Amino acid sequence: TTGGEMVLEVTGLSKHFGGLKAVDQVDISVRRGGVHALIGPNGSGKTTTLNVLSGLYNATSGKVVLDGTDVTTMPPHLRAAAGLGRTFQNIRLFRSMTALENVIIGAERPGNTLTGKGDEAALTERALAALTFVGLGPRAMELISSFSYGHQRLIEIARALAANPTLLLLDEPAAGLNSTEKLELHELLKRIAAQGLTILIIDHDMTLVSEAAQHITVLNFGRRIADGESMAVLRHPDVVSAYLGT
Ligand code: ADP
Repeated sequence: TTGGEMVLEVTGLSKHFGGLKAVDQVDISVRRGGVHALIGPNGSGKTTTLNVLSGLYNATSGKVVLDGTDVTTMPPHLRAAAGLGRTFQNIRLFRSMTALENVIIGAERPGNTLTGKGDEAALTERALAALTFVGLGPRAMELISSFSYGHQRLIEIARALAANPTLLLLDEPAAGLNSTEKLELHELLKRIAAQGLTILIIDHDMTLVSEAAQHITVLNFGRRIADGESMAVLRHPDVVSAYLGT
């Protein structure tokens, strides 16, 4: 950890699938603390960008620096150990396990080399704290299958939080949520940011994005077309036409 102003510095990032430039020479600087949104029409390269950032895909070219460490060629588990947490567009929880068991899996990140009985108790405590933070502490022992879709999303966020990440990548956390759940999510994002954690979020929900994020980067056809303070970006003519064009 460098404690520098930027928690993530992405420069010239590209990911090509054969001839398709899914991500094309993209720069993203994420300031420490607060919420940074990555938006763009369908197919603009948002999820591919997150997948390259978390190490699921190798970059075709470009550089990714997390908290002062060049993680460009690191495998996902080492990026996680370096402080990168993420959730996925499709919920990835073990349905036959309890909420707590799922979150404990998240707490066991490679960077936290915990072994032995006392450590197990510490893991459980950390997982429970994360579940409590998202408002589901009292239901920790229930099976995933008994939770609503919205609450399963919160459990995924708790699982990512349990690893104590520096930067949390959220891929469309509001997808499929009703309006009450969206408000709860928005409130949760604010509380996460208030803890000093940084969030990079992909979302389609413009209301959520404009209210939750201080900074927005916009992609279209794999390229960055706008970047800056939220309100200015959302009014940018290229952004307006990119959205109307699809
Ligand atoms: P978004 O998240 O903005 O909707 P994606 O990153 O999912 O966009 O996709 C960007 C482009 O890359 C799309 O044209 C998509 O079809 C393509 N793409 C994404 N993943 C793959 C893959 N694994 N193989 C081939 N093409 C892909």
